[in-house]
Amino acid sequence: MRTLETLNFDNSYARLPEQFYHRVDPKPLKGAHLIGFNTEVAGLLDLDPCQVTPQALARYFGGHEMLPGSEPLAMKYTGHQFGVYNPDLGDGRGLLLGEVVNAAGERWDLHLKGSGKTAFSRFGDGRAVLRSSIREYLAGEAMHGLNIPSTRGLCLIGSDDYTMREGMEPCAMLLRVSRCHIRFGHFEHFYYRRMHDDLKLLADYCIERYFPDLADDENPYRSMFVRVVDRTAALVARWQACGFVHGVLNTDNMSLLGETFDYGPYTFLDQYRPDYVSNQNDHQGRYAFRGQPGVVLWNLACLGQALLPLVPREDLETQLQRFTLLYEGYELARFRERLGLEEVETGDAELVERLKTLLAEQRIDLTRFFRRLCDFDGGEASIEALMELWPDPSKLTDWLLQYRERLEREEGSDAQRRRRMRAVNPKYILRNYMAEEAIRAAHQGDFGPVNDLMTVLRRPFDEQPEFERFAGEPPDWAGAICLTCSS
Ligand code: AMP
Ligand code: MG
Ligand code: MG
Repeated sequence: MRTLETLNFDNSYARLPEQFYHRVDPKPLKGAHLIGFNTEVAGLLDLDPCQVTPQALARYFGGHEMLPGSEPLAMKYTGHQFGVYNPDLGDGRGLLLGEVVNAAGERWDLHLKGSGKTAFSRFGDGRAVLRSSIREYLAGEAMHGLNIPSTRGLCLIGSDDYTMREGMEPCAMLLRVSRCHIRFGHFEHFYYRRMHDDLKLLADYCIERYFPDLADDENPYRSMFVRVVDRTAALVARWQACGFVHGVLNTDNMSLLGETFDYGPYTFLDQYRPDYVSNQNDHQGRYAFRGQPGVVLWNLACLGQALLPLVPREDLETQLQRFTLLYEGYELARFRERLGLEEVETGDAELVERLKTLLAEQRIDLTRFFRRLCDFDGGEASIEALMELWPDPSKLTDWLLQYRERLEREEGSDAQRRRRMRAVNPKYILRNYMAEEAIRAAHQGDFGPVNDLMTVLRRPFDEQPEFERFAGEPPDWAGAICLTCSS
């Protein structure tokens, strides 16, 4: 185990040529203080939680002192924002501090978000506000708990500095940890600038670091694209199956490793609504819930285009054409899991589609419905419990009959099925109102609720009686929460 001062830094990205980034130090936050520390993430870095103090965390991750071995830099990338190419992007309010290699040989990026101005802060102060930092800190943990690939937070630092967003708001910094901070937009930058040597260098770097088993393939860049398409399809299928709306699926927010990346105006749906738009700034509804698979494919096409100097066009097109089938396969697999189905039957896709249609028509709470379905045994009480969630319960009857018949053709026992279902249908998800309550408390100086949510969301499938209140119906005001790009 290591201390903050002896973390095993090895900064491979900082060894790339200087056109890949811009070196700059974080700007300290006034009155930096620790709000939350994630001991699980500390474990990934071999960091001994017993040897860190809140003061040291606030110093290092509030921008006051450099961690020995870190080499802060702002990455250069570009990307398509709401369908329009923007050449002027890059880390504008965050810095890659460096990479820590743990004893298992895993390499983790440490990214300090909210660390002040960089060469790529076109406008804005390079700061992040407490509200959005809490939302990102919580979301990373919630996703991880749900087995959905995601960046996570090591710690959250509050401050006495203020900046203008929805009114004056307190600033914060989040230390984001992930295996990958390479975005689709990293490739787009070198492609649109016609810097093809650097494009190749970037691709070689990614293959060596993330896909070493592809290095000897006939065309490793094509193989890499195959992997990215696959992982991205798997990711968006997980979002759709749990009711997650990202909110800003620009190509600069797409991780090369298929992780959920850059949390802003996201929503875990309270009601299953395909047309739900989570971001109030998204006037066209480009990033509506149901549009996510299509948008992600569009983003993959942007990445594919950026790889044209390295991969024949027809190969890229072939891979893009695979996406829809791949995605549908993953999505069906996720819903079959949620329904507790182990045997594979051709009618399963229709069973799932019918359910989705009904859930949408009746605007059902996906999370609470599937959790109750774990207790479905065909008996009156379990049917009653499900019906309670339906404005018009008669709509559910036919489907439930069909489902019961389908369950009879399963090999395993009913008890086994219900146990399996409880391990994939969460009791707790991060609803917007929960984040909002924790934000309000934090603004009053009470960080208990943020840390409670971290505890609950880390184990969303387990019964946690002390947190039963988070498993109920959301309050009425939940529907009025307004999220924007500044969230
Ligand atoms: P996002 O919407 O979070 O994906 O951010 C889009 C781009 O705007 C990124 O390049 C960010 O670095 C930049 N950006 C967002 N907020 C700020 C800010 N407060 N100061 C400077 N740059 C920012
Ligand atoms: Mg972003
Ligand atoms: Mg963002």
